[in-house]
Parts: sequence; structure tokens; C-alpha cells
Amino acid sequence: MSITHEVTNQTTPLADVNLYRLNLPLQEALAWHHPGFDHARFDALGAEAGSAEMQTHARLANQHAPVLHTHDRFGHRIDQVEFHPSYHTLMSRALKHRLHATPWTEGAGGHIERAAAFMLFTEAEPSILCPVSMSYAVTPALRAQPALFRDWLPRLASTSYDPRFLPFAQKTAVTMGMGMTEKQGGSDVRANSTRAEFEADDAWGQCYRITGHKWFMSAPMCDAFLVLAQTGTGLSCVFLPRLLPDGSVNPIRIQRLKHKLGNHANASSEVEFEGATAWLVGDEGRGVPQILAMGAITRLDCALGTAGLMRQALSIALHHTAQRQAFGRRLIEQPMMKNVLADLALESEAATALAMRLARAVDRTENGSDGHEARRGNDGHEAVMRRLLTPIAKFWVCKRGSHFAQEAMECLGGNGYVEEQGEGVMARIYREMPLNSIWEGAGNIMALDLLRVLRSKDVAAALQHEIAPARGAHAALDRAAERVLAGIDTLADEAQARRLARDIAVLLQAALLQRGSTAVFSAFCNSRLDAAADVFGLLPAGTDFDAILQRAMPSL
Ligand SMILES: Cc1cc2nc3c(=O)[nH]c(=O)nc-3n(C[C@H](O)[C@H](O)[C@H](O)COP(=O)(O)OP(=O)(O)OC[C@H]3O[C@@H](n4cnc5c(N)ncnc54)[C@H](O)[C@@H]3O)c2cc1C
Repeated sequence: MSITHEVTNQTTPLADVNLYRLNLPLQEALAWHHPGFDHARFDALGAEAGSAEMQTHARLANQHAPVLHTHDRFGHRIDQVEFHPSYHTLMSRALKHRLHATPWTEGAGGHIERAAAFMLFTEAEPSILCPVSMSYAVTPALRAQPALFRDWLPRLASTSYDPRFLPFAQKTAVTMGMGMTEKQGGSDVRANSTRAEFEADDAWGQCYRITGHKWFMSAPMCDAFLVLAQTGTGLSCVFLPRLLPDGSVNPIRIQRLKHKLGNHANASSEVEFEGATAWLVGDEGRGVPQILAMGAITRLDCALGTAGLMRQALSIALHHTAQRQAFGRRLIEQPMMKNVLADLALESEAATALAMRLARAVDRTENGSDGHEARRGNDGHEAVMRRLLTPIAKFWVCKRGSHFAQEAMECLGGNGYVEEQGEGVMARIYREMPLNSIWEGAGNIMALDLLRVLRSKDVAAALQHEIAPARGAHAALDRAAERVLAGIDTLADEAQARRLARDIAVLLQAALLQRGSTAVFSAFCNSRLDAAADVFGLLPAGTDFDAILQRAMPSL
């Protein structure tokens, strides 16, 4: 080797680490919300998700993006999407770790454990989690049609992934997706033009013939979808399987796959329905609230997924700066870099806390598929918090994601921007980040939803109750609480809804952090409550950087 090619001062990859053991904020959130959680489950998942093997699968699944085959060589339509084997391995691991519909068949705490597991798995590979998340989220909407639900739930909750294109009854497990967005309207789904014409009543209820299109329908190889279509009464939610119970192929034509900024391992398609068969779910004309029972849960996953990506980016930044030297010492020892890293650590921990708090509210308010109501209880406070936290966490955590990824990338300098055959993960994280903010209701739509929530009288009282344990712990928190509560009382006009969403989010994050590390709580309040900083790394003098960094990366 030439002397000029001796490699020095480059870092090692962050691989074969236990992501669960590294993540103290997640461990503490689990212990707080669900003290009886299965620690061994997470230790095993953390080791697997942090393994070099999983990183290789993630790289391959993203590099070898799915390919659509519309026709066979004889000209017949086949509408099949072909994936790299690593995609299927990742899907099978996600189902094995119960990230899909299993909480609906488990007792109290099931959604909390699943949420933490989802966050950890996101650090291995986020884009395959799109169909996993939709398969999890479909239950509250689908159970409105008991005959369908009874037939599909066992396979929706099965942990034996089965990618075969077969009728559901012949498969070990099924996955589900959703189709709302059309060319002329995504946020405003009332503009949907897809038509549903009544055909007949049968064992699965009212059967319709569907004609129309969807401009975005992700994971088109799912076994079935919830879709919005206009009946004579109005927009309705229907269940659309890819294969009909008699084994024939439902005419769902996959027109093309989207060329996306990121999320490459996942297929997102444009589809047309040419007289496809579907069954009504819920009441005719009440399609939007019906499908939003699913959308509300996928919004939880957007917040969890972003918190997971933040954590991954933070770990990589800490790992890199702990090894790389510049100007005579390690980057992590440089005072300004400490400030940047500590600020990122605060943001990551606050995102974890808020997303897990929402998961707890879901757990406390969702019934199991049968008979779990009594164990979960029917907690009015949790119901209000769930309604409030869903738009808040989706808006704020996801909104912070891209900004976070950019700063974490910069900690790696030029290496952060370079992918090198997909091995540089920061670029993949950066491309993935904006997605959780856009799909399932973009930022403005979440802020508008917040205004709707705030019209309910019990929200201010619930918010007061929620932050009460933290009152008096920090003067900035008390000031922020007064401001936010006054803002709710006067109900900001629509143009100010984002400001309100941010203020409520940050206040709730501060109140949640008060239970954990004093250094984190105090730095968070000092830096985020009185005024919002526009870049990371502006933590004030006196911040206990070392304590925050030690907590963020215990092995440093
Ligand atoms: C990779 C990917 C996968 C997707 N997968 C699916 C899928 O599987 N199923 C599915 O149904 N959809 C899917 N979507 C679509 C996604 O949910 C929509 O793109 C999203 O809801 C926004 O809708 P739109 O694109 O029509 O934008 P628009 O509705 O045109 O919105 C554009 C912008 O205007 C803002 N806006 C809209 N109304 C208002 C208002 N009243 N006030 C202020 N601002 C407003 C929005 O916040 C947004 O920022 C996917 C999208 C992507 C990128």
C-alpha cells in the first residue's frame, strides 16, 4: 500500500450494538408507562436491530428498490411488485417482533410495548414499516365490519410473514394498506371521485363495484386496502382485497411506482380500479371518520418513526464525534460541538417522551379485539389527551425531524453527506425524514386538526392536569403554561395554529422530561420555553453538557 493511502482518523461503523441498551430515554419511558414491560423482548430486539446483518438487509432493500411488473411476457396484466430478498427478510423480522396488529390481541400495555419496539426497529430500517404500520392501524376501522374483521384479524396479527400472492384464507399472515389520496385532492379527501356502485349483500356485508383511481397507494402488494369511494350517499369507506375469496384477481391496476426522494425500500404506487369488488366498512356516507380511525393510529407511528430516526442519527453523530479528532482533541470534546450534540440529545429525548406518551394514551383508550376493555379501563383524561396529542406529536416531532437530520449529518462533516454504496446511513435518514411530516396529514392539516380539538371544553382542563406534576419545577415552564392556557382560551386564529401547536408540544415535552434527568429537564426549559432557537447548538452557558451527553450515549 502506498504511504499516501494510510487511513487515519476515520471512524468505525456503528454496528453490532444493542440499540435498546443505548437508549436510556426509551427504557425510562417504557418503565414509566408500562412498569411490567418485557425487558427481555427489548434486549433481544435491540441487539437484532443494531446488528450488522440488519444493516446489510436495510442497505440492500433500499439499493435494490421494488420493481413493478404490469404485464407478463404474453401481455396479460399481472400487477406484481418484485422486491429484493432483504425486503422480505426485514418484513418477516418486523412481524416476528410484533410490530403490526398483535397489540389488538394482547392485554393492557400491548400498544406501549409495540410503540417502543417500532421505534427501535425504525433505527434498523424505516421504509418497510409503512405496510407494517398500516396493518397495525387498520383494526379500529375494520372492526366496524364484524364478519370481515373476524375472518381477517387472525392473519393480520399472525407473526409468520407470508408474501405470497394467494387468497387470504391460504396465507399464514396478511398485510393491509390504505387509499385516500387522489390526483385532485389529498388533504381534502372530500374531493375524491372514485365511485362505488352497490352490487349485492353477502357474507361480508354490502358489496360494491369500485371504479376510479388513487394517486398514492403505498405498499400495493398488501393483501387488502381500506379505500374511500363515493356511493350515492356520499364518501364511504370500503374494504378492497387484491384477491377475491374465490381466488380471482380483483382488477386493481398498478399504473406505476413513484420515484421518491427516499423511502426507497417501500413501493408507493398509482392505481386504477376497473370495476373492483369491495365491501362497505362502517356507515355509508361516513367514510372519512371511518378511515380516520386508521389514520389516527398511523399518525402515532409517524411520531414514533421520527423519534426513532432522530435517535439513530444522534447515536451515529455521537459515535463519530467520539472518535474523530480535529484541532488536537476529539470532536465531542470541543465546546461548541458539545453544545450541538447536547441540544440534539435534548430534542431526541423530548421526541421520544412525547411519542411514547401518545402511545400510552392509545393503549389506555383502545379496546382489544375482544374482552380487553375491562383491563384497559375507560379513562376520560387519556381519551382527551389522545385526541390532543395525536395532531401535536405528529406535527411537532415530524416537523423537527428534517432539521435534526441535517444537523446530525453536519456533525460527520463531509462523510455525513456521502453514501458510498448505501453504507453511509445519514443520507438515507435525511431523505426519509420529511415523509412522516407529509403523509397521513401534512403539518398544516395537523395544526388545523388541533384547532378542532381545542374547541372541546375539556382540553384546557386535561392539559392543566397533565402538566400539574411539573408546575413549580422551573420558572420558564410555569410562564409557558400560563401563556399556552391563555392562548387556548382565546383560541388563536387559523393563521396562528402552527404557533399554538408548537407551544403546546414544547410545554408537554418539558412536563414529561421533568420526570427524568435534571440536566436534561433544566437545559430543555432554558432553551425552548421562553423563546424558540432557530438552530441547534444555542444551549446557554451553565448547561451541564457532560451529563446530557453521558446519558445520551452511556458507552461513551
Ligand atoms: C411516499 C408517499 C406515500 C404515500 N402513501 C399514501 C398511501 O398509501 N395512501 C394515501 O391515501 N396517501 C398516501 N400518500 C399521500 C399523502 O398522504 C398526501 O400526499 C398528503 O396527505 C398531502 O396531500 P396532497 O399531496 O394532495 O397535498 P395537498 O392536499 O394539495 O396539500 C399541499 C399542502 O397544502 C397544505 N394544505 C392543505 N389544505 C390546507 C389548508 N386548508 N390550510 C393550510 N394549508 C393547507 C398541506 O398541509 C400541504 O402542505 C403518500 C404520500 C407520499 C409522499
